[in-house]
Amino acid sequence: MTTYARVIRAWTGEGWVDDAVVSIDDDHIAVVPTEPDEPVGRIDDTLLPPVTDAHVHIGLSDFATRGAGALARLLDLGWDPPALSAVVASSPSPAPEVRWAGTFLTAPGGYPSTRAWAPPGSVTPVATPEQAVAAVDAQRGLGAAVIKVTLNADAGPVLPDDVLRAVVDRAHEHGLVVVAHVEGAGQPMRAVEAGVDWFAHAPWTHRLSDAELDAMVGRVGWIGTLDIHGRGDYGDDYARALDNVSRFVARGGPVAYGTDLGNALTTADVNPREVAALRSAGVDGERLLAAVTGAGLLPRWSRTASLLPADVTGTADALDALAQARPVDAATLRAMVG
Ligand SMILES: [Zn+2]
Repeated sequence: MTTYARVIRAWTGEGWVDDAVVSIDDDHIAVVPTEPDEPVGRIDDTLLPPVTDAHVHIGLSDFATRGAGALARLLDLGWDPPALSAVVASSPSPAPEVRWAGTFLTAPGGYPSTRAWAPPGSVTPVATPEQAVAAVDAQRGLGAAVIKVTLNADAGPVLPDDVLRAVVDRAHEHGLVVVAHVEGAGQPMRAVEAGVDWFAHAPWTHRLSDAELDAMVGRVGWIGTLDIHGRGDYGDDYARALDNVSRFVARGGPVAYGTDLGNALTTADVNPREVAALRSAGVDGERLLAAVTGAGLLPRWSRTASLLPADVTGTADALDALAQARPVDAATLRAMVG
C-alpha cells in the first residue's frame, strides 16, 4: 500500500520543490508531481534521491559490520553474486540499497583474474561472442543491475572487439548498462566505439585528446573515482585524471560519484576528498547533486532515499550537509509520518 507524505522541500533532479509530496512504497520512494486523493502526512525534513556511491566492492569493505554511513545506495562493480548477497543480507538496518554488476567479465588471463584481491568466482573469463552472451545472461539471472567488463591493456590480454561488442549488445538487449574498467593506451576510445555506456574510473593513464573527448560526449559517462590516485597523497595519475575530467565536464559529459570502496578504503560513507576532487574538476552545484545521486547511471528514485536536516534550503546547503545525509527506506519513512 502506498503512503504519502509532504516533506519541507525536495530536490528532484530538475530543481527544488517546496512542500513536495512523496509516495512511499516498499520498493520505491519518489517525489510525485500531483496531489493524491489519499491523506498526506508530514515529514519535517529535506529529501534527496538516494545518495549513491556508484563504484564499490562490498566484499573488500567492512560494510557487513559498519554499514554504509550516509550512503543510501551502493553499486557494486565486481564480485561473486552469491557471496555479495550474503554480505548484503547481514548488513545493519535500515539497509542501504545495494545494486550490483556481478562478476568481472574479462579476457582469459585478463585483469583482474591475476590479482590477489579478486577471489575465484569474482571473475568470468570470456573468449568468444557466444561465451559473452552466456556470461551476460548468467549475471542477469543472478540479479545484475549493470554489466561490468574490464579492458586493462597494461595488465594482460583484453577482450577483442567482437567479443566486447557481443557483451555490450547482449546487455543492451536486456536493457542493462555496461560499465567498463578502461586502462592503457587506446582503451577508452575502444570501449566507446563498442558501445560501452560508462567508465568505472575517469581515464588516468593518458591525457585524452580534445578530439577524443568531443567524440565521447553524448555516448559515455564517467564514474570519477579521482581519490583512488593516492587517497589524498596525489601525484601524476591524479593530475591526469583531473585534467581529463575537467575537459570532459566542460563539454557537458556526465560524471557520477564513486569511490572504488575496497581499494585502499574500507569504510563506506560519503568521502569528502572525492566530493572535493569533483568540485575542483568543475562538477559543482546541481551537477554535483546529480553526481552524488547516481544520475544517468541508475534510476533517480529507488527503494531508499536520503533525508537532510530541515534547515537545508537549497543546493549549496545540501552539498555542505552530504555527510549528515540519513538513508531511509519505506519502513523508516512511514514511522516518521506525523
Ligand atoms: Zn573497482
